[in-house]
Amino acid sequence: MTTERTFSIIKPDATRRNLTGKINAKFESNGLRIVAQKRVRLTQDMAERFYGVHKERPFFKDLVKFMISGPVVVQVLEGTDAVAANRKIMGATNPANADAGTIRKEFAESVEANSVHGSDSLENAKNEIAFFFSEVEIVG
Ligand code: GDP
Repeated sequence: MTTERTFSIIKPDATRRNLTGKINAKFESNGLRIVAQKRVRLTQDMAERFYGVHKERPFFKDLVKFMISGPVVVQVLEGTDAVAANRKIMGATNPANADAGTIRKEFAESVEANSVHGSDSLENAKNEIAFFFSEVEIVG
């Protein structure tokens, strides 16, 4: 058990429905601490670079269009085994397959508009955090 930091995005479908507080309550009640947070509007270039690993996937264009369709809240979450813990709190990519009590089960609209992003490895977490935050903006 180690204290880690992971990167999270509250996606446009959730900010549009004013769900930031309800989603943050899920993180906090499950042991994660929000140590950095800001609301931003991604540009097309930022979204394409952020999701660069998916650029060959058939849904890439739609995903980028969705991610720039409204504001997002980018966050750093800290806690014990935070990367895996957050993936559990989020639930499966497709809300139809997500466990009860997870963010995606309760709030996601579809496999694309699935309310949250969370890093899938510690290495990706480090890179994704650095994409959006400088060290002085992260206060543990
Ligand atoms: P995640 O790590 O659970 O977010 O899932 P992935 O890394 O596989 O996919 C990244 C994001 O692309 C997902 O969170 C969805 O927003 C979107 N996505 C994944 N699969 C599909 C799909 O089959 N169709 C569409 N339109 N979007 C998808």
